[in-house]
Amino acid sequence: MTLFAKIIRREIPADIVYEDDDVLAFRDINPQAPVHVLFIPKKPFATMNELTDADAPLIGKLIVTAAKWARQQGFADDGYRVVMNCNRDGGQTVYHIHLHLLAGRALHWPPG
Ligand code: AMP
Repeated sequence: MTLFAKIIRREIPADIVYEDDDVLAFRDINPQAPVHVLFIPKKPFATMNELTDADAPLIGKLIVTAAKWARQQGFADDGYRVVMNCNRDGGQTVYHIHLHLLAGRALHWPPG
């Protein structure tokens, strides 16, 4: 079982900021910006490579949920970034897909 599955099951503590039937969001333990939250589907997918057309509603909901939370928190107009890393070259380290939401400072482009 992955670390994030254990967070969903409350077997590992996390600073949870949002939850519904499909999505959980919690603060990254090693934040790379003043706001760094991970939005995860409760359904486990190891990487983006596992996604199919059938998963489009769930992944759409993941993105819309992050956007709604950003608006509620008040930093949406200043801006933010969402990132999903895939496998080695993408820098993925936890194999339960997650959307990083980064905000609270100007972010550089291109990323490293
Ligand atoms: P990635 O490298 O895209 O797979 O992102 C994994 C993220 O999970 C990293 O930003 C880590 O800092 C974060 N992380 C690892 N363990 C935990 C944890 N126990 N609680 C919250 N975030 C974590």
